[in-house]
Order: sequence, then structure tokens, then C-alpha cells
Amino acid sequence: MPNGMQTRRGFAKASVCTAAAAVSGVGSVCLQAESQADPKEPFFRTRGVVLRPEDILMADWPERARKAGLTTIASHPFPGTVIGLLRTERGRHFFNKCRQVGLQVEHELHAMGSLLPRTLFEKNPEMFRMDENGNRTRAGNCCPSNARALAIIAESAVRICEALPSTTGRYFLWGDDMVGWCLCRNCRGFLPADQALMVVNRMCRALREVEPKFQVAHLAYQKTRRPPKQIKPVEGVFLEFAPNRSYHRSYESQWKAGDFDTIHALDANLEVFPRDTAQVLEYWLDVGRFSNLVRSKQPVKLPWKRDVFLADVEAYRSRGIRHVTTFATGVNPGYRKLHGDLSFIDEYGAGLLR
Ligand SMILES: [Zn+2]
Repeated sequence: MPNGMQTRRGFAKASVCTAAAAVSGVGSVCLQAESQADPKEPFFRTRGVVLRPEDILMADWPERARKAGLTTIASHPFPGTVIGLLRTERGRHFFNKCRQVGLQVEHELHAMGSLLPRTLFEKNPEMFRMDENGNRTRAGNCCPSNARALAIIAESAVRICEALPSTTGRYFLWGDDMVGWCLCRNCRGFLPADQALMVVNRMCRALREVEPKFQVAHLAYQKTRRPPKQIKPVEGVFLEFAPNRSYHRSYESQWKAGDFDTIHALDANLEVFPRDTAQVLEYWLDVGRFSNLVRSKQPVKLPWKRDVFLADVEAYRSRGIRHVTTFATGVNPGYRKLHGDLSFIDEYGAGLLR
């Protein structure tokens, strides 16, 4: 039997928690099952931050996160970069530190390029997306009507999650944003979110053959923010919602009926996906995003507005959402040196525990 198969069987036998600990030693603490909530447990079960490898240079992120009452640190952006990080002393030390202080570790990944390698395009263009000109293109996503493409994606998903286990059993393997989905004869009748969900459903089935408790995110973002119409999520698929919004005022106050660029899109998605497993992926602490918006070479001071954040938290709580995380890219030693104050981390954690 090839080595890969032996590893796979080991992955299959392990529980959600021990799989994570055994494969990379990143964690051994488990969230409670959704159905076994402790009445004393905080309302928000996930209180997280999403970081890039350069942010991990701030070696005391785990202690700061724990002190702020956070539960989870997730890595970003690509499977290859995080696997590379885990091969370094600094990366291993960081994830060990997360485990020592009792933080969950997840990985929020732009994964399509790893799920269906672009090198397959030359021989099998039919597995890839058809663009508006009727040409197959390797530039992003896939043809979800192609059975072979989905089989390769499912196999790759298991392999990636084996290499990058999540201590919560929740997995985030995103399709490509910025580009659309497939316009071939078989796909064009489906919305982008329907097509994305076909892929997620298939990955979820494959991962739950490994471990029945695993869950897989359907990311509602950009073109997939309009919810799926024809495809339903299979058991284990949860909504991950990333808003498109201004941070000058509360998200709720930007509501507009029928506008999928507002919180209306979240409500529409919650008609399709379960509420209690849904997760919001916010940008409240995302120095990287705010710096790019002003095209600054230096990280800008985070435009942290506590009152806007607290109003947003109430909007999510009132909708029954219990998993909240935010990008915090750019919150690293360079930022600390330039701007000093990091008290927004504590205020973020405290706001989710109120
Ligand atoms: Zn297609």
C-alpha cells in the first residue's frame, strides 16, 4: 500500500481533535458539539482572528488573543503558504503556542488552485471554467458539471485538510473570487453560488467519509453573495459570510432591500443555510484591507470604531449567528512599531463576550 494510503487511513481513524494533534501537533482542544451547548457558554462560540504568515512574526499573538477572550486563530491565504509556514521553526512554534494557551487553529484558504491544479488545463480543458466568449480558461474556478473535476477536487480537499488539520473540524477551502463561474451549456443555468455549492457539497461528502463531524464552509463573497437557488447544502456545510460594506457606520444601517451588497444578502443566505453553524468573516481589524484602500505603502492606523463594531455584533447576534471572526492581517511588529496601540484586540474580544 502506498504511504499516502496509510496516512489517509490514520486520518480516517482519528477523531476531530486527535487528528489535528497527531498530524501536525497544532492543537488538542475541541469546541463543543453544536448540539451540546453549555448554558454558561458565551453566545459567540467562535471569536477569532485570521492572520497571514507575516503577522505571525508578532510572536505573542496567541497570548494576546487568549487574554482578549478569543477562541480561534486561523491562518491565511493559500494552502501552500501555510504548509510552508508549518515547515519553519517559527511556524511550528506559533501553532504550538496556540495549543499551549488553549486556542483553536483553523485555516481559511484560497484553495481552488490547489484543489484543481492549473497544470491540468493543457490536457483536460473541459474540467475548467468556460468564459463569456465560450472559451475554457484556467483563470479561476472550474466546471462543476464535470465529474472528473469534482472527483479531483474532492481528493485534493482530503489531502489538503490532512496536511492542514483544523482543531475544530471546520474547514475553509474557498473558490476563486474576482472571476466568475462556468458558462458552459450545463452550468450556465446555475448562479455562481449554486456552482460554488456543488463543489463544496462534494468536498464535504469526501471529508465526512474521513470524519463524520467535519464541516465545510460555503463562502458567500462577491459573486457568490447572492444565495444559491437550485442547490441545497448537504449535511455538514455551513455558511461563511464576508460582507461588502463601509466601516464608517453600522452594517445594519446600510441595509437595502434586494441589494446583495448589503446585509440583505446575509438574511437571504440564512434562508438557505443553517443559522447556528453560520460564520461571519469580518474586516474590523484588517489593517491590510484598510491600507490597500488608501494605497499606502505603510500600514495605516486601524480605523477602529468601537460603536460601529458593537452595533454590528448585535446585528449578527440578533440573527442567531454564533461564529464570528475577523481578518487582522497587518497587525504585526511593523504595525506595532509604527502605531503602538493594539488595544483594539482587547476591545474586539470583550465586545464578543458582552
Ligand atoms: Zn461548466
